[in-house]
Amino acid sequence: MTFTIAIDGPAAAGKGTISKAIAARFGFDHLDTGLLYRAVAALVLNGADPVAAASTLTPDHLEAGNLRSAEVAQMASKVAAIAGVRRALVAFQREFAARPGGAVLDGRDIGTVICPGADVKLFVTASADVRARRRYEEQAAQGATDSYETVLADVRARDERDMNRADAPLKPAGDAILVDTSDLSIDEALEQVTRLVRDRLPRDR
Ligand code: C5P
Repeated sequence: MTFTIAIDGPAAAGKGTISKAIAARFGFDHLDTGLLYRAVAALVLNGADPVAAASTLTPDHLEAGNLRSAEVAQMASKVAAIAGVRRALVAFQREFAARPGGAVLDGRDIGTVICPGADVKLFVTASADVRARRRYEEQAAQGATDSYETVLADVRARDERDMNRADAPLKPAGDAILVDTSDLSIDEALEQVTRLVRDRLPRDR
């Protein structure tokens, strides 16, 4: 059986946490597609050409140690605006989505471009303040020294680029279900999404 769950949304809305937990709960594979763009960005920061880097990306590149840094995140949203970079990453994502046994992909354009026929489409969002607060606390816990204001400015700059690029901009698919996590705990968000997925699973699962 193939069963694809597309989870899109802006940075730090909770889609990574939700995607991982849902994949674990239902026994599906999970792909964090942001990592693909982050891996290309890390190569570009080391001097590579963006399209060449995307065209020759291997699973090993997704294991690089610095992919979660703020510098890589900003560069990721820049390389993600290049049509040739996005094109080079389509096949890998679609093959992942078609794995037998079910797949959860999270990103910005999964429900709109990569898997328009996904069985479940969610758009997970939260206010910019809430998202920046979460990202700030997460980074501070890892020893980062950026202020909350800097993190908020980074989140806003990335939102702006992701929503306004010409190719595959961040937006909910017409048939996506909106999940606003601003006032939800992780457990509440997970409960809501688990229910949505369970209602759409084939009966024999
Ligand atoms: O999700 P994450 O914050 O790791 O993504 C990093 C950047 O990669 C995003 O800001 C966005 O520009 C880009 N991205 C994208 N399409 C995806 C996933 C990520 O454009 N499907």
